[in-house]
Amino acid sequence: MGSPPLLVTRTAAPAGLRLTGEIDESNVDQVAAALAEHRDGRRPLHLDVSEVTFCDVSGMRAVVSSARERPIVLHGIPAQLEKILNLTGWAEAPGLSFCGCKPEI
Ligand SMILES: [Zn+2]
Repeated sequence: MGSPPLLVTRTAAPAGLRLTGEIDESNVDQVAAALAEHRDGRRPLHLDVSEVTFCDVSGMRAVVSSARERPIVLHGIPAQLEKILNLTGWAEAPGLSFCGCKPEI
């Protein structure tokens, strides 16, 4: 029993959040809460997902729906997540964009 380990930490440059570990239905609420909490008006949230080892559809849905509140820039998206985004068409979701840089802590 128990959720897979998921760590939410802050990045310094650009200022934002880094998710580390696995995201699925058991801890997607934690992700949604962290995204909701980390808001600065309409400024984009930089979200580093390069250390996400697994993310199911519920996890991506949380990110996509949060991107409707204010823009989210996804950093270092792993191939598995990119596949989900392309399959679901969420790659084109409003507010979502992608960046190739690696945020610093
Ligand atoms: Zn960047």
